[in-house]
Amino acid sequence: MELCVLASGSKGNCIYVSGGGTSLLIDAGLSAKETLLRMDRAGIDKNAVKSILLTHDHTDHCKGTRVLRERLQAELFANEGTATALEQRDPKLLSGFTVFDDGGAFEINDLRIEPFQVPHDASDTVGFVLDDGFSRLCVVTDIGQTTSLVKIKVQNCDIVVVESNHDVEMLRQSQRPWSLIQRIQGRSGHLSNEDAAELITETANGRLKHIVLAHLSEDCNTPRLAHNTMVDALSLIGRGNLPVHVASQNEIGPRLLF
Ligand SMILES: [Zn+2]
Ligand SMILES: [Zn+2]
Repeated sequence: MELCVLASGSKGNCIYVSGGGTSLLIDAGLSAKETLLRMDRAGIDKNAVKSILLTHDHTDHCKGTRVLRERLQAELFANEGTATALEQRDPKLLSGFTVFDDGGAFEINDLRIEPFQVPHDASDTVGFVLDDGFSRLCVVTDIGQTTSLVKIKVQNCDIVVVESNHDVEMLRQSQRPWSLIQRIQGRSGHLSNEDAAELITETANGRLKHIVLAHLSEDCNTPRLAHNTMVDALSLIGRGNLPVHVASQNEIGPRLLF
C-alpha cells in the first residue's frame, strides 16, 4: 500500500492512499484546485483516483468535495450523518453519496475499508482502517478521546496516521477564548501530543512500521514538540527507532510504501 498526506491541519485535510487495485482520497478539505495541484506535485496519477472517503462534515475535511468529485469523476463514500449534513448544505450533492455503516466494512476492488466511530463534535465522525490483504493502515484524526474501539482499530496496523493536535501547556497559555480551549480539550475535541503518544504506546506491536502525526495545531503545537513527545514515549517501550513523520498543512508529505 502507499500513503501520501497531501495536507493535514485545521485549514484542510486530504490523504492519498493506493492499494488493492484502488487509489482514493480520505477527505477533501482543500479546494479541488489545490488538491489536484498537490497530487501533480507529488507525482500521483490523479486520473486513477476514483473514490473519496469522508471522515466527517467539518469544513476542513469536506470543503472541496463537490468540485473534486466532478473533476475526478469519483464516487463519494460517507456515513448517513455526514452525507445528510453535506446534502443539506449543498443540494448539488443530493443523492451523491454511497452510504456506509459505521462499524461495517466494504470493499473497493481488493481494498477492504473498515469505518469506525470516533468521539468528535461533528454529525457522525469516523476513522478508517484500510486493508489490502498485505498491509493495514489506520487513519484516526479529529477525535476527542481514545476509546476501546479506537485502540482495537489502531492495533495490528503497519502504519497509523494519528492526531497529535496540541501541546496541553501551549493550548492553556494560548490567547484563545476559554470556551474554545475547553472544546479542544473536551471529549469531542482533539487529541493532545500526550494522548497520541499514550494511544500508540498502549497499542504498538511488532507490526507497526510507521507513525504519521497529523492535524497539528498551528498555534498550540510545533512539529518538533509533537515528534519528540511521541519518540520519547516510544523509547520507554523500546521502540524509539520507529519512524515518526509529522504531517503538515502546507507541505506535501513523503510517499510512504508499506
Ligand atoms: Zn479537522
Ligand atoms: Zn473535525
